Amino acid sequence: MRAGHGCQYGLPVDSVNLHSDTQTRPTRAMRRAIAEAAVGDEQRGLDPTVNALQERVAELLGHEAALFLPSGTMCNEIALRLHVRPGGDEVILDRSAHPIVAEAGGPAALAGAMTRQLEGDGGVFTAEQLEGAVRPEDRYMPRSRLVSVEQTTNMGGGRVWPLETIRGVLEAARRHGLRAHLDGARLMNAVVAAGVPASDYASGFDSAWLDFSKGLGAPVGAVLCGSRELIAEAWRWKQMMGGALRQAGIVAAGCLYALDNHVERLADDHEHARRLAEGLADCGLAVHRQETNIVIASVEDPAALIGAMRERGVEISPAGPGRVRCVTHLDVDGDAVARALRAFGEELCC
Ligand SMILES: *Cc1c(COP(=O)(O)O)cnc(C)c1O
Repeated sequence: MRAGHGCQYGLPVDSVNLHSDTQTRPTRAMRRAIAEAAVGDEQRGLDPTVNALQERVAELLGHEAALFLPSGTMCNEIALRLHVRPGGDEVILDRSAHPIVAEAGGPAALAGAMTRQLEGDGGVFTAEQLEGAVRPEDRYMPRSRLVSVEQTTNMGGGRVWPLETIRGVLEAARRHGLRAHLDGARLMNAVVAAGVPASDYASGFDSAWLDFSKGLGAPVGAVLCGSRELIAEAWRWKQMMGGALRQAGIVAAGCLYALDNHVERLADDHEHARRLAEGLADCGLAVHRQETNIVIASVEDPAALIGAMRERGVEISPAGPGRVRCVTHLDVDGDAVARALRAFGEELCC
């Protein structure tokens, strides 16, 4: 952690914030890019920086068109609303998926959707599991309409969906006439960890998006991709939900900066998470498989451990019953990881 940064959280200066990769603050260089951004009226398509970002992400993800939105949650909610016919259509996703655990019931409220929850392995389910959940055509039953995949899995523990598994799920979806949505909040973590291009993961989906406020380190922003038709409809919902902006190039500039400068360095976060996972296992914790920047461990009393670690200057977060989560990001350097491991060691081993 850079000197003095911790003060902004009201934490001691050499505290370590592993609460989430949403905790990053824009770097000096990103702030400079933000300050110098060319801007215009985004609602009228006249913000050059937003337009450049949308084109760049559409190309990166292998889609026709893209739309800048204030948050990843809005990407998920608009996409679900567009794919689902309100009034009982069913969305199939892993039980730990973000729209289920962290979007305030949005799929029900905004899309009128039923959710069918699969029990994946670390948030990753198979084509067979999907096929087992698809309903037959039957007027008693809800209609299966959409499958949603999270790359990487968040509450699943930062696991990377293998490309083959995604392809299998997409094939099964097509066979059953389902649409397919990719929640790519941490897609670039998967790209860096697996060495697979983003478009290989994303282009087969009807909609896919990327979050800039997670490990990429921008303060605000997400970009939803799809066909020109889908994005034109998404614009109506962006407007309706109050997500249409004005001189949004101010924040889009941070996202462009992140694409240029903060993608390859995600490998550092993964290496730091690997060290954390090893260290926690050495302390006797039941650490789940770690693949990217998220480390989940099963503990008897998460609240007690979170409180004790806060006393020691290390912020970690709960991750469902009996589990805690540590997330590495660009404000956590090698020294911070070492400090966190020392604190864990003192708490758990002595
Ligand atoms: C953070 C997150 C979201 C929501 O993104 P926000 O930008 O915080 O609204 C959606 N899906 C996953 C997997 C996430 O981790």
